[in-house]
Amino acid sequence: MAEIHFERWQQVARFHNPLKAGELDEQEIEVRLDPLTGHQSIFNSALADKTAILFPPTDEEYLEKRAEETKAQCFLCDGKWRQMTPRYSGKVLPEGRLIKNDVVLFPNLFPLAAYHAVVMLGSRHYLHLNDFAASMLKDAFAVSLEFIRRCHECDPDTVHFTINANYLFPAGSSVLHPHLQVLGAPFPGTQERSLLKKSRRYFEEHGSCYWLDLAATEKRLQERWLGDLEGSSWFTAYAPMGVNEVNAITPSARHFLEWSDAEISGIAEGIARTLTAYFGLGFSTFNFSCFSAPINGEGPEFRSFLRLINRQNAVPHYRADDYYFQKLLGNEIIIYTPEHLASVITEEF
Ligand SMILES: [Zn+2]
Repeated sequence: MAEIHFERWQQVARFHNPLKAGELDEQEIEVRLDPLTGHQSIFNSALADKTAILFPPTDEEYLEKRAEETKAQCFLCDGKWRQMTPRYSGKVLPEGRLIKNDVVLFPNLFPLAAYHAVVMLGSRHYLHLNDFAASMLKDAFAVSLEFIRRCHECDPDTVHFTINANYLFPAGSSVLHPHLQVLGAPFPGTQERSLLKKSRRYFEEHGSCYWLDLAATEKRLQERWLGDLEGSSWFTAYAPMGVNEVNAITPSARHFLEWSDAEISGIAEGIARTLTAYFGLGFSTFNFSCFSAPINGEGPEFRSFLRLINRQNAVPHYRADDYYFQKLLGNEIIIYTPEHLASVITEEF
């Protein structure tokens, strides 16, 4: 087992600041590098006062109105999914759809991969972030994993899967009704390819698994550590790819087909707790992606890995939270330092 080294650089920006009567202002900028990928996140403490401008609080009245307006047309509400959602062929899923309590998995009408399923999260059209029940998320992960197992059985070349979520329009969702998306293809996506390749290189250099080393280092340092839940370890990201990023790994499961009830429960519970903490911070939207080693893989270099982030809050005429700095330069801005964020979210753990 190797200790993970967290690298950071400092820079200073100097200018005459009209907000300080034209005085020469010095602002310290910290650049953090992700230990595996080199992804950069910057923190400028002067931005702390701008949080309300960068991420204005959710307009609850507006959001309730949007929810009300879209509910009548929703193809999932009031049991309409029974008539209006597509079904898989008998080869993949003889039952057409997978149903567990009030979650339902069915094909995406406009797939982005050979296997692209949508998982409806319950019958309620709109949920506050503190209303995503762990039991519902657990059912959603259970049907997602069952879908992955069936896809792989009927098409053994399909070994690259992710389980993902977009919640609300600022997070890219075209359907307001809460749902997950499962993607499966013979080839890894951009991020997955990079994570797998860099994890392999780390393993060859250090003789240990980056993800286990990362969790052990975060646990020892404590400043970003949230805790161990069943089958999963939780912490905030040192150099986040998105706002308020929380990560989880599954120490005993390299890929999705190795998940047992423990991983399903722990991941569902941790997501529910983090979303409750996001709600407490005044956020209303999120994305997550959960990665896995190739599901025929035997490599010891990877563990399932979750990234969970906030997106811009739901307000009329909202401003996108990824501009050139994120979308094209591939960097991110830190709003709350990961250490402060951990001190807030840990209350839910
Ligand atoms: Zn709905």
